Amino acid sequence: MAYVIAEPCIGVKDTACVDVCPADCIHPRKDESAFEAAAQLYIDGENCICCGACVPVCPVSAIYLEEELPGKWKKYAQEIGNGMWLSAKASCKLLIIKVLCLISTGVLRGWY
Ligand code: SF4
Ligand code: SF4
Repeated sequence: MAYVIAEPCIGVKDTACVDVCPADCIHPRKDESAFEAAAQLYIDGENCICCGACVPVCPVSAIYLEEELPGKWKKYAQEIGNGMWLSAKASCKLLIIKVLCLISTGVLRGWY
């Protein structure tokens, strides 16, 4: 079970939900490169702890429990994968930055 962001978020993307999410599972955040191009925000269903904190702050009532999505927005349950992908992308980018920092500080110099 996870929460899902549906159609009303498209074109709004005000990130009010991101600011209150204790699990950092709504992506892309404003500081992630995918933010500008994303039509809407997505919830990483793997990491959503179902606290419901994002629901009341959404100005357009776009967030629902997967099981409670209105029929016309059922397809947005599939968008859970988008949230996971964006989350993984952010983690990869962080890993690359960490490795580059280690290389530049000489920590990995013995490896190359
Ligand atoms: S239900 Fe809680 S953990 Fe899940 S996306 Fe909303 S604020 Fe984040
Ligand atoms: S609060 Fe609602 S409209 Fe704003 S980004 Fe989150 S889901 Fe989209």
